Amino acid sequence: MSSQPNLRRLIPEVDSTVAVASGKGGVGKSTVAANLAVALAGAGSKVGLMDADVYGPSIPKIMGVSQQPEVTAENRIVPPERDGIKLISMGYFLPQGEAVIWRGPMLHKMVQDFLGLVDWGPLDYLVIDLPPGTGDIQLSLCQTVPLTGAVIVSTPQDLALEVASKAIAMFKKLQTPVLGLVENMSYYHCPHCGERDDIFGHGGAESAARELGFPFLGAIPLSPLIRERSDRGEPLQSGEETPSSKAFADIARAVTEQVAIVNSNRRPGLSIET
Ligand code: ADP
Repeated sequence: MSSQPNLRRLIPEVDSTVAVASGKGGVGKSTVAANLAVALAGAGSKVGLMDADVYGPSIPKIMGVSQQPEVTAENRIVPPERDGIKLISMGYFLPQGEAVIWRGPMLHKMVQDFLGLVDWGPLDYLVIDLPPGTGDIQLSLCQTVPLTGAVIVSTPQDLALEVASKAIAMFKKLQTPVLGLVENMSYYHCPHCGERDDIFGHGGAESAARELGFPFLGAIPLSPLIRERSDRGEPLQSGEETPSSKAFADIARAVTEQVAIVNSNRRPGLSIET
């Protein structure tokens, strides 16, 4: 990060940035990013959500926001809001169907230009949905945005330790703290009888976290409600009395705690240089 002295100036009014990453696609990274943002906002924070998944931007759909952001006469991008969350997807700005041709340096410049143009205003948290995987694109993206820390999402079916280790190695290279691991689709909560079933033998991410010495931030059930609400563009609200919304609220609390620890270790003089 120190090689990027101007990075912090891109988003001067943003207190903390939390990247949500995964070793591979389909584990629910975007679902976690969106619902984490909603849960943080539900707890009273000012939150922005940036969809940086250039391969498959899905945040607009999950959040139910389809309108393109406004661009002002001064060439500033005004993010649309949903439930008080400011929302931007790089999908709005990438040429359709060309994500795969984006290479590190091109993407790097585009994200930098783009981030600096968005009117985020003052935010407590900017949650960033990264593309799945731990390759060059992810590395380049993380070098472009000043990150407070990263949340790693995995499922019990992954070889949790292996997948988490790769992501952790990437953030180590970037000198970005790993805030912890989330296990998604962890267990099944029957909506009819309320019983819990550990169909995939949950707990892989928790033991991986323990073994690697990182916090375990929580487990999210495999729930038809989560999928249906994502499909409908209505993220779970923190006041809802469902196991899923409670799980997201718990994870948001754990993330808040970890961010506070990272930030207190950094002060005085944020390690992200200005
Ligand atoms: P990724 O961003 O890792 O590629 P997504 O967040 O797009 O994954 O999720 C992939 C699919 O899985 C989506 O259809 C989503 O609604 C569904 N999904 C994610 N998490 C859960 C969950 N806990 N329970 C049920 N369905 C889920």
